[in-house]
Amino acid sequence: MNLTSPSQVKAWCIENDFHPNKTMGQNFLIDRNALVAIVDAGLEPVGGVASPRVLEIGPGLGVLTEELLSRGCDVVAIEKDPILAERLAGSLGNPERLSVVAGDALDFINHKSALPGDRPFDCMVSNLPYQSGTRILLELVLSRSIAAITALVQSEVADRLVAGEGSKTRGLAGVWAQLDYDVEIVRKVSASCFWPRPEIGSSVVRLVRHERNADFSEEERDVFHKITKKAFEHRRKQLGSIFRDMIQSTARAEELSNEDWKNLVKGLMGT
Ligand code: SAM
Repeated sequence: MNLTSPSQVKAWCIENDFHPNKTMGQNFLIDRNALVAIVDAGLEPVGGVASPRVLEIGPGLGVLTEELLSRGCDVVAIEKDPILAERLAGSLGNPERLSVVAGDALDFINHKSALPGDRPFDCMVSNLPYQSGTRILLELVLSRSIAAITALVQSEVADRLVAGEGSKTRGLAGVWAQLDYDVEIVRKVSASCFWPRPEIGSSVVRLVRHERNADFSEEERDVFHKITKKAFEHRRKQLGSIFRDMIQSTARAEELSNEDWKNLVKGLMGT
């Protein structure tokens, strides 16, 4: 089957009595240009690696999986839908370089279940489900286990991840992601590139791990996560009135850069 042919994808669903599940975020990518763009962006940071080991979350019918395999990647694909997980390897001709794991990606990121193989992942490339995409991305970012993460997400999620200080869309997800990753929006992808067509557009977002905060200890990170969470829960308030006796500042959470937050934490901890 040509996985970027809308008519072939729809025909497969009808023949197999498969109804894309909205709560699982099953909006399949059916646009060849967008497919090439996301895979190019995902593999660019690992350009020098001979057979990059790639994590794919939510392979669905396998459109990204097939493209990644054709570029010489070793792919571990985690799919929550048991019907899609069961058929994937066979539908792609049982390639040796592909391991399909049935289950919820969050269980693997949180080490509740183990993934096959012991070589670390070089990158993650995925078209994430709308509903759980932000949570999956944040858990991956907090684990700091993968150096390059490229994902198709709702545009508003991408905008929040990339937002710098002073931006109205600045929020907790961006502050946490930017602590260890440089974040960029690679391109927008229109809703018409998916079937079923979602209500809103998507963006390809890429996160590449940096080491600028390698000196930040686990204890400092813990305080960083706690105070930023509390500050963004009261985003309209000045920090001085949220953290009475601890912080004297008239600034609001969205006005601080990651460097400011880091200095604030170091100041509070005397480190
Ligand atoms: N990669 C395919 C594509 O681009 O056409 C499908 C992408 S679709 C947006 C999201 C996929 O993630 C679906 O196949 C869905 O079943 C799967 N999924 C949803 N929640 C998941 C989870 N928590 N863990 C793993 N896969 C999940």
